[in-house]
Amino acid sequence: MSTTSGKATGTARTRTDPLDLAGIDDMLSPEEKAVRAAVRQVCDSAVDPHVAEWFENGELPAIRELARELGGLGLLGMHLEGYGCAGMSAVDYGLACLELEASDSGIRSLVSVQGSLAMYAIWKHGSEEQKQRWLPPMAAGEAIGCFGLTEPDHGSDPAGMRTRARRDGGDWVIDGRKMWITNGSVADVAVVWARTEDEDGGVRGFVVPTGTPGFSAPLIKHKLSLRASVTSELVLDGVRLPADAVLPGVRGLRGPLSCLNEARYGIVWGAMGAARSSLAAALEYAGQRSQFGKPIAGFQLTQEKLAHMAVELTCGTLLALHLGRRKDSTGLRPEQVSIGKLNNVNKALDICRTARTVLGANGISLEYPVIRHMTNLESVLTYEGTPEMHKLVIGQAMTGLPAFR
Ligand code: FAD
Repeated sequence: MSTTSGKATGTARTRTDPLDLAGIDDMLSPEEKAVRAAVRQVCDSAVDPHVAEWFENGELPAIRELARELGGLGLLGMHLEGYGCAGMSAVDYGLACLELEASDSGIRSLVSVQGSLAMYAIWKHGSEEQKQRWLPPMAAGEAIGCFGLTEPDHGSDPAGMRTRARRDGGDWVIDGRKMWITNGSVADVAVVWARTEDEDGGVRGFVVPTGTPGFSAPLIKHKLSLRASVTSELVLDGVRLPADAVLPGVRGLRGPLSCLNEARYGIVWGAMGAARSSLAAALEYAGQRSQFGKPIAGFQLTQEKLAHMAVELTCGTLLALHLGRRKDSTGLRPEQVSIGKLNNVNKALDICRTARTVLGANGISLEYPVIRHMTNLESVLTYEGTPEMHKLVIGQAMTGLPAFR
């Protein structure tokens, strides 16, 4: 039995679950299944009934209520320890990402950016004061965070960033622009990466309360993907911050890249949620839709599609679980995360596109989740490292030769 999100029920299965043919569920502990069920429950009640409308209208009107609800469940910074964070395992976090993205990639993005980018940056690289000030309200969903790395002219190659932080007396003054920043217009705090003129210089991270004069975050409109997500430009015009606004724990691009690795890991799982939901919709539709006198599920060509999607979903979910178990035991190297992100987003897109064909004309309607997932995944494919960047990371790990430039 499945819902529109393709949820596998938690009850004992007496027959094959068409969305988990390989029995991956049996590899999860009762505690992990309980985490997953709790996330599914909040998605069923707070997201799924509304998300198609949010997507259609290109807005996330209840983002503060939603953030509090997700925070109440411990989903914000859930894999971090202390400061009001839930301290759950990487597999728990992955399972949560999968359920969230089975509802919508935009909702998973809200959680990923909050927990894995903004909160992780402060948790890993921040001062004790920064942690005490921001992490508890962010974990509770009372404060929303964003993460500003990308610039209009510098995406895949952040080393060229033009945003500058200069010292003025005891203060820092930041000037620059960031682009495509999730949660930007609704954020209470922005983690902004900027080039400094310090002797030991390079890129530093800054914790910027968004009410600081000179900071604004205009909404980016006209997106045809990730429409149930707030995406913004960040404008920093002479933003003056105290000396202790800098993240003291890291210098250079290692800082933002360490955060991206965390968020990319969540995408490895999340993409399989969008894929599962699309496969579930296709399977249900194929059983109900008749052409040439019988359900289209009974045609060999449809079954080839269903089997192909099921195999890819199985492989992607197993890869996510492997990487999660490894992250919990030994940690992950960047190329391992790249393998997961590259494979699972590509495969999720393939599944969504295939599912869309099963639904025929209905495949392009927001009445069904498939086209929404499919267009969302176009953003997921690009952010947190494009496929090309992940191939280059993997290529470098294999050959020892960087081929980025
Ligand atoms: P470019 O870097 O200009 O790349 C364009 C194309 O050229 C890509 O196909 C790329 O792979 C290719 N390319 C570039 N260099 C090479 C090379 N050396 N070899 C081969 N091919 C190459 N950023 C944030 O900082 N914070 C956020 O919260 C955030 N949220 C986002 C939300 C959405 C909805 C989107 C769409 C983006 C978001 N981003 C965010 C930005 C995202 O991370 C960037 O879009 C991404 O890094 C790619 O940068 P770019 O768009 O400038 O593309």
